[in-house]
Parts: sequence; structure tokens; C-alpha cells
Amino acid sequence: MSFAESVDYLVIGAGVAGLRAAISLADHGQVLVITKESLGESNTHYAQGGIAVALEGREDVALHLEDTIAAGDGLVHRAAAEVLVSEGPERVAELIEWGAAFDREDDRPSGRLLRTREAAHSHPRILHANGDATGAEISRSLSVTAQNHPRIKFAEWTMATALIVEEDAEGHRVVAADLISADLSASPNHPRRVTARAILLASGGAGQVYSDTTNPAVATGDGIALAAQVGAELADMEFYQFHPTALSLPGVPRFLLSEALRGEGAYLRNHLGERFMERYHPQLELAPRDVVARAIAREGMSADPALSFPVYLDMRHVSKERKGIDLTQRFPGISRFLAAHGLSLQHDLIPVRPAAHYLMGGIRTDLNGRTTVKGLYAAGEAACTGVHGANRLASNSLLEGLVFGARAAEAMLSDRLPEAHAIATSAEAPKQMDANEEAQVEEIITRLQRSMWATAGLLRQESTLREGISTHAEIESSLAYYTGQGKSSRRLFEACALASVAGSILRAALARTESRGAHFRNDHPVRDDEKFRKHSVERNGQVRFEQW
Ligand SMILES: Cc1cc2nc3c(=O)[nH]c(=O)nc-3n(C[C@H](O)[C@H](O)[C@H](O)COP(=O)(O)OP(=O)(O)OC[C@H]3O[C@@H](n4cnc5c(N)ncnc54)[C@H](O)[C@@H]3O)c2cc1C
Repeated sequence: MSFAESVDYLVIGAGVAGLRAAISLADHGQVLVITKESLGESNTHYAQGGIAVALEGREDVALHLEDTIAAGDGLVHRAAAEVLVSEGPERVAELIEWGAAFDREDDRPSGRLLRTREAAHSHPRILHANGDATGAEISRSLSVTAQNHPRIKFAEWTMATALIVEEDAEGHRVVAADLISADLSASPNHPRRVTARAILLASGGAGQVYSDTTNPAVATGDGIALAAQVGAELADMEFYQFHPTALSLPGVPRFLLSEALRGEGAYLRNHLGERFMERYHPQLELAPRDVVARAIAREGMSADPALSFPVYLDMRHVSKERKGIDLTQRFPGISRFLAAHGLSLQHDLIPVRPAAHYLMGGIRTDLNGRTTVKGLYAAGEAACTGVHGANRLASNSLLEGLVFGARAAEAMLSDRLPEAHAIATSAEAPKQMDANEEAQVEEIITRLQRSMWATAGLLRQESTLREGISTHAEIESSLAYYTGQGKSSRRLFEACALASVAGSILRAALARTESRGAHFRNDHPVRDDEKFRKHSVERNGQVRFEQW
């Protein structure tokens, strides 16, 4: 019999939340950070617009709190939002000390930090880096800090596929995780078991559950599925934020066109060339994301179906009206991507459509990253503290990763957890999938993504959700055919994780018979505070509602 490797702390995920947590943990023990692909491949890396933070003192912090609560449509957990906005400035200052170079008025490090405005923010408070590459700069500075720490080890292209629990007098406790190679060509793919005093799930969101998403391929909700499997509670899974403006070109990924474009004055126009947002919200293009996304969907649906790009983002007036703004310089990454497809912000209408972007729900945690299972912690997009309520305020999630990543580390360090101890590795050799089986799993994933878009997307109702649940049941049984034979591969595991997350979204969306924030029910279009000013909580597939 062979025994598992052992570390003090295992961090699953190397986005903003995982890296920030690892840096604190490493002052007190050996940390292993694993990431499914290379270090930079995360939602964090792709974040464009910026990080929201109140740097002007108490009044500014109070305004940030107000905006966060207003965007969350009656469901923000106030204590979590207070933590976010009040600890945010310190976390961002620390990040700047670690080398994050946010854009400044002039090139001197002491130059005033530039701030932009995004939807539903009452004033400009969004810091950005290299114009529209904020996430990459945050990821870079945290990665360098972590890599310089002698007690942090990284394992890239390594994915967690199971959490191992042990029973003790106080119930069950997570003590280890099984890891496989995430390199698709790896064969045979023997799991490696790593025990740890505490495990942090910082594995990000699950945008890949929908056919249209701004999220990279790694965002398959693995951590959420792993937590659910060991009986952890999930919360608010019905609230998926759809970003209103992803590039809509056939055959081109749904590249995000940051809200900062509208913050800098971009208009939305329908196929008739009309600015239509005045029909939907007084804040026009800077209305909350859910409102803008639904407005675009409705304008798109009312247009001639033969028109493939019925809604456009229009920035052509901005350079003329605002002397001194150079759109190519302000948005270099977006401009480069558009140019590669023959489009320019200065001269063209840019076709847009909504795409799945951010999961407000996730693994239920307290304000210190504790899940409902001992030894298991979660932070960042994988977690749900209730800080975003039913709808996240733009640019609050990078800040969430920093603040709650640091807090989860504090809890992992201060909770009285037994040391990692020797446990046996799994004796079973995995059975590899052949090429034909892998192709079938890809088909299953595509079917799930399309079904989720059609049945549990921007506009939902009981009939579509029930249809989604029935497709989901068929998908689960197709996957069980492979898992039942002890087969293992990266894509099979991701398909199972996506199916698990999809099931939770469908069940919670069906149970919430009202409309609130990102969750819109055609058959229950009105918000119902009396019944539903509550968070949905799911455990072992059963949904209930709770007030926090
Ligand atoms: C295109 C885009 C633009 C955005 N723009 C902004 C913005 O301007 N401002 C803002 O605040 N937010 C923005 N967001 C949202 C924000 O980037 C994310 O919510 C945030 O970065 C999530 O950080 P995280 O650390 O929780 O997860 P991530 O950054 O997604 O990191 C997850 C990590 O977990 C790893 N992982 C996943 N599964 C496994 C597994 N099974 N085993 C091992 N590792 C695993 C991944 O490889 C990755 O390293 C944007 C998101 C996208 C997609």
C-alpha cells in the first residue's frame, strides 16, 4: 500500500482568490497551489474593466456599500458587503505594494490613480491596468509574489477530481484531494492523493455551463461540484449574471466588450439605429447589468430573425465629443481583438449579445470562507457569501477574491484543525476513455450547454425549466454509463461537474417563483419580497430558502 503526499494547506485554483490566500497561508506552513492549466489561465486573467474600490475615505466606502446593495436587488448579505467595501482599500493598497501597476494620470508611481465608472456605480471608482487588462496585471503581481515565497509550490495542469472525507466524533471532515493531470494527452491518468490540514476551493465560476459565455474553458464549476459531492451547502445558484455585451460574430468566441466602454460613453443601438435603453431604465446604458442584458435580448428578439447581429455598441461619437480620449490607447486589448476581426471602436458599430459571465451563487460560506463541511474552505467566484445578492455590481469580484481570499486564509490558520496525517492512496487504477468515448462526452457537454442556454438563460419560466430538468436527467444517465465503469478523464470529470452545477441552477431557478436581479421568470415577472427576500440553499439536491 502506498501513502498520500502531505502538505499543510492545499489551494485549488490560482486566480485572485487562491493566490491571495496562498500568500497569507505560506507564512505559516507549506502550501500547494494547483491550477487546471497554466498559471495565468483563469477568469482573473481575462478581467478587463477593473477593480472597484473606495479610496476616498469613509463616505466613499459608504457609497460603495450603497451601490453594492442596490445592485443586488434586495438580497445582498449586508455584513458581507460591509466587509468587502471596508477591507477592500487595504487589500488593494497591499496589492500595489506587491507590484500591481494600475493606470495613473502620469507615469510616475506617485501619480494619481485613474478611475473609471461602470454600470450602477454612483461615481468613478474603478481602478484599471494597461487600459483594459486589469485582471492580467493582478494575476501577474500575485503570481510573482507567490512564486517568490519559498513555502509555496505550484502544480500546473493538475486538477482536483475528488475530495476525501473522514468521519470523526464531530462528523465528517475533508482530509485530502485526488488530483489528476489536466493535460488531455495524459495517459494513463493515475490520481495522486494529497492530504492537507485544510483545503481551499478557489476554483472559480462555471460559465461553461452555458453555450454562450465570456469565461475561459477552465470555468467548469469543478469546485462547486466537488463541494456538493461531500455534502456542502450551495447557495443562490439561480443567480447567473449574463454580461450584456459580448462580441457577436459567427465562429468567434464571445469576447467580452467591457462595461467600461459604456462607462466611457458608448451607446447601445438596435437594428433600426435607435438608442433603446431609455425604454428600459433611467440610467440608460449604465443601468444594472441584468436590466441591460434583458433589454438587449428583447431588442434582439423583436428584430427581423434574418438579421444575425441585431444589437450594436456604438462608440463612434466618443472621440469626436471628448477631445483627448484615444480609444485605442484606453482600450488596447479590445481594440486589438476587434482589429483582428476588421472592426474599430472609432469607426464601426460593434455587434453584441449577452453571454454567461459570473455566478453570484456557489459554495455557501461564512464571512471567513468556512463551508458547511469541516476542513473545507471556499473563496472567490466558487463561493457564495451573499455579498453580491441577486446581481453583482460591476468590478466587485476581483475585490471579492482579494478580500475573501485573505479572510479564508486567516480562518484556515486560526481554526483548530488536526495536522494532515498519512492516509492510503486510492488502490483502484483508473480506466482510460478511448477517442470515441471522449467524442461522445464532448457531444454531451454541447447538449448540456445548449439546453441550459435555452431553458435556464436570461428569460426563464416553469415550462422551460422543466424541459431543462428533463434533458439534464438524460445527460446525467449518459454520464453515469461511463462513471459507472470506473472511467476517468479530464473532460468526463468536467462534464460531470457541469451537469452537477446545471442541476443546481435548474432546481433553484424553478423554486424561486419571482423575478429578482439576474433571475427573471416570464411567468413570475415581479419581485416578491414577502416570500423570497431569502437566499436559496441547496444540500444533497434539496432546495430551501433562508434569510441571512
Ligand atoms: C472576460 C471576463 C472579464 C471580467 N472582467 C472583470 C472585471 O473587469 N472586474 C471584476 O471585478 N471582475 C471581472 N470578471 C470576473 C472576475 O474575473 C472573476 O469573478 C474572478 O477573477 C474570479 O476569481 P477566482 O480566483 O475566484 O477564480 P478564477 O480566476 O477563475 O480562477 C480559478 C482557478 O481555479 C482553477 N481550477 C478550476 N477547476 C480546477 C480543478 N478542478 N482543479 C484545479 N484547479 C482548478 C483554474 O485553473 C484557475 O486557476 C471578469 C470575468 C471574465 C471571464
